[in-house]
Amino acid sequence: MHALESWDAQLVRIVDAATARAQAVSGHWLACHPGCTQCCHGVFSISQMDAIRLRRGLDELAGTDPMRASAVIDRARQAVSRLSPEFPGDPATGIFAESDPAFEDRFDAFANDDPCPALDPESGLCDLYSARPIACRTFGPPLETRGGFAVCELCFVGATPEEVARCAVSLDEAGALEEKLTAAAEQLSARTGSTLVAFALARELPRSSPDLSSGLQPPPESE
Ligand code: SF4
Repeated sequence: MHALESWDAQLVRIVDAATARAQAVSGHWLACHPGCTQCCHGVFSISQMDAIRLRRGLDELAGTDPMRASAVIDRARQAVSRLSPEFPGDPATGIFAESDPAFEDRFDAFANDDPCPALDPESGLCDLYSARPIACRTFGPPLETRGGFAVCELCFVGATPEEVARCAVSLDEAGALEEKLTAAAEQLSARTGSTLVAFALARELPRSSPDLSSGLQPPPESE
């Protein structure tokens, strides 16, 4: 396995373990269940590491279920066509213009109900669940980064802020690793900045390059 993918698998393990801890302590306050898709509607930014992971997941799906993979690509391409005219960035690259002073306002008003192309509209399940972005892995329970956290509006209904805070689990261990992998992924893909799931899935990303991964040694086996 490529060093970047090995490290990404490590990142996913850390994030999924933290999410599992938060789910366990949150218990009945969580409303998440298969088929609940509110968080799959409305666009959100993803990193270039997320984009590479999603694309790899799509390639794997194409090997096991080509029809399903083809449907994902169709939905992604339709989404890119639909979203490009108002995209708050460069629709040719799919990169958000985050340094634009008007970016926040444009993003807030942008595609708030658009379905994720990885969402199977019939089953209400994610076709790329194992390759989903970090934001999808952590949304719902209170996962704390840099001293702050948010919860899904469908969860913790009626809970006090203290009850929510008692269930918070730190994600800080993952933060530095995610930043490092995102920088490596941006170098690998020659794309700098955040993007959307639709752009990641509609376009071919460059394959892993040994030259660009030379600064990343594989992570320890046991971690
Ligand atoms: S995070 Fe919210 S919208 Fe998403 S599955 Fe959980 S309850 Fe549903």
